Amino acid sequence: MNVAVIGGGGREHALARKLSDSERVDKVFVMPGNDGMRDVAEVHPEIGETDFEAMADLCISNVVEWVIVGPEAPLSGGVADFLEGKGIKVFGPRKEESKVESSKAFAKDIMERHGIPTAKYESFTDYDAAYRYIESVGAPIVLKKDGLAAGKGVVVATDMDEALAGLDALMEDSDAPVVIEEFLEGEEFSLMVLVNGEYTHSFEIIAQDHKRAFDGDEGPNTGGMGAYAPVEHIKEPVRRAAVEQIVEPMARAMVAEGLDYFGVLYLGAIVTEDGVKVIEFNARFGDPEAQILLSLMEDDFIDVLEKVEQKEPFELTFSPAYQVGVMLASAGYPMAYEKGHTIDFDVVRDACYVSGLEQAEDAWHTSGGRVLLVTGEGDSIEAAVEAAYSNVDKVKFDEGTLFLRRDIAKRALDRE
Ligand code: ATP
Repeated sequence: MNVAVIGGGGREHALARKLSDSERVDKVFVMPGNDGMRDVAEVHPEIGETDFEAMADLCISNVVEWVIVGPEAPLSGGVADFLEGKGIKVFGPRKEESKVESSKAFAKDIMERHGIPTAKYESFTDYDAAYRYIESVGAPIVLKKDGLAAGKGVVVATDMDEALAGLDALMEDSDAPVVIEEFLEGEEFSLMVLVNGEYTHSFEIIAQDHKRAFDGDEGPNTGGMGAYAPVEHIKEPVRRAAVEQIVEPMARAMVAEGLDYFGVLYLGAIVTEDGVKVIEFNARFGDPEAQILLSLMEDDFIDVLEKVEQKEPFELTFSPAYQVGVMLASAGYPMAYEKGHTIDFDVVRDACYVSGLEQAEDAWHTSGGRVLLVTGEGDSIEAAVEAAYSNVDKVKFDEGTLFLRRDIAKRALDRE
C-alpha cells in the first residue's frame, strides 16, 4: 500500500523511515518533508503543511491508504477533518480533539472536570487580575500562553520579578488567555499513547526529552534538544500509575465530553511527591521522542495502526537496546539564528534524523533552528550515550555555527 506523512521535521523523518521498513508499504510520500527524507520517501516540498487541497489530490491520485500527521499545526487546522471528508484515512485527531494540545485552557478544563491530576491553575485574559493572582500565590509559578507556541510560550518563574516580566511578555502580543499554574517539582517523562475513543494503548517504554537549550537544564525552553529511552530509573509502577490515573481516565473523559480522539496522545508527565501529574498533553508524537521510540519499536507500523483502528488489544515489541539522540541546533536557537551553514553527516547518515537541512550541489545547508538528531544505540544506557556522542563527533561543521547539549541521558547515568 501507499502511505503519506504530513510534516517536515525529524519526527516525520522517523515516521517515514518506520513506514518504509514495513513490508506492507510500497511507497511513502511526505508533504512537505525535507531533503533529508529522500532516503526513505518521495518528498513534496511544494505541498505546505496546511495545504489540505493539494494533500488530498496527492493522496487520491496515488491511492494513499493511510495519512499519518506529525506536527500540531495541520492537526489544529483541521487536516484530519478535511482529508476524512475526502474518504482518506488519517492517523491523527480532528480539529476539535486536537484542542487538548492547541488550547491549554481546554485541556486543563477537561482535567479539572474529571479529576485528572495536574497543576492547579487559573486562566486569565485580564492583565490586572492575572497580576493580582500572581501576587497572591507567589513564586515559583508557571505562566503559559494559550495556543501553540512550539515550547516557547512557557515561563517557569523562580521569583516574582521573573513572574511579572513573564506576564508582561506573554500578554503583550495577543489577547489569547494566559494560564497561570502551580509549579510542580519532580522528574519529567514522556509517554506515547495510541488512542481510539476510550481505547488506549500506552507504549510499554517511556522516554525523556531535554527541553532546555543548554547543559544542566539551563537556558530557554526549546522544541527538544535530545531524548533517550527506555528510562529505567523511573520504574514500571510509575508508568502504570500514569496509565491508570491519567491516560485511561483522560480517554474516558474525552468520550464523556463528546470527543472522539483517534491518533497519538502524548503525555508529558511529572513524578511529584504527590504522585504522577500531567504537565501537558500533545496531540501527536513528541519530537525528538518519536525518533528514539520508533527506532526501538520492532512492530510493523501499519499492523499497529490497524490494531488501534479495530480497537484490538495487543502488545508492542521494543528492542531490548537503549537509544540516545542528541540534537544539533543552529547557534542562537530558540532565538534568532543564521541559516545556510554547511554540515557533513554522510558517514553517520543512518543514525540521523533530519529536521532543518537542505541539500544543494552535494552539500547540506542548515535551514532551521533544530537541524539534525544524531542517535546512538547500545546494550546499556552508557553504551548508547557513548555511541551517540561518538556519532556526533563524526559530523563536520564550522565551529560556532551549531550547538548541542553534552549531557543527554545524564540523569539516567547518574542513577546507575
Ligand atoms: P511543548 O509542547 O514543546 O512540550 P509547551 O509550550 O506545550 O511545550 P509545556 O510542555 O506545558 O509547554 O511546558 C514546557 C516545560 O515547562 C515543561 O516540559 C516543564 O519542564 C516546564 N513546566 C511546565 N509546566 C510546569 C509546571 N506546572 N511546573 C513545573 N514545570 C513546568
